[in-house]
Amino acid sequence: MLEFDSVDEAFWFGYCVGLYEGEGMCAIWSVKSNPDRKYGRFVVRMTDPEPIQNLKRVLGGVAMGPYLTPGERLLNRKPKYRWTLGRVDDVIRLAARMTPFLSARRASQVKRVLDEVSPRVRQQAKAGNRRNGELPVLRPRHTGELVCPAEPEPSARGYQRHRLLGIPCCDVCRESFRLYYAERRKWNKDKVRETNRAQYLKNREARVLQAREHRARKKQEGKSSEITD
Ligand SMILES: [Zn+2]
Repeated sequence: MLEFDSVDEAFWFGYCVGLYEGEGMCAIWSVKSNPDRKYGRFVVRMTDPEPIQNLKRVLGGVAMGPYLTPGERLLNRKPKYRWTLGRVDDVIRLAARMTPFLSARRASQVKRVLDEVSPRVRQQAKAGNRRNGELPVLRPRHTGELVCPAEPEPSARGYQRHRLLGIPCCDVCRESFRLYYAERRKWNKDKVRETNRAQYLKNREARVLQAREHRARKKQEGKSSEITD
């Protein structure tokens, strides 16, 4: 099932799995500008630097620290250290190796993340970076030749290949490029409209309340000025 070059290596892997079982977490995250693309991340936080360095040495990823939030500094907390593994392919590989040893609770956390994340090789750049399930057939790469589609399709790939190879762009690729940008612009437009609408709905209640208060205040002022008159 698992292959290690030495007993030492196997031991250190077990050490890391144990550490993750005790102190680790696994979460899904996405960047604000593109909520459709999900990433998984393994994190272990501790107040000791050595185990964090061990995790980085054995499993890869990034070690960070010492760090504290301003609030924690005020409370005189111990500084924390953190190990993070976030690259899609690394996360998927480590999850597969680690899951057999994890408790049911931890394993289900990992599974939940894996269900959302798909490997980088299957991620296709689409207009607006949207992935809608069906992936087009992958054309050969790195051949140093032009691979122009027969029909225009919304993609910038052909155009970029022309550019990289220094060959003037053909009509199909130019049209493809135009389609790609048209879709991207449309996607951006939709996104902005959606965001504005959400903001409007969110603020509507507050606005109504404010208007009501304003009217009540005006009324009150009107009355008091009558009295003083
Ligand atoms: Zn072309």
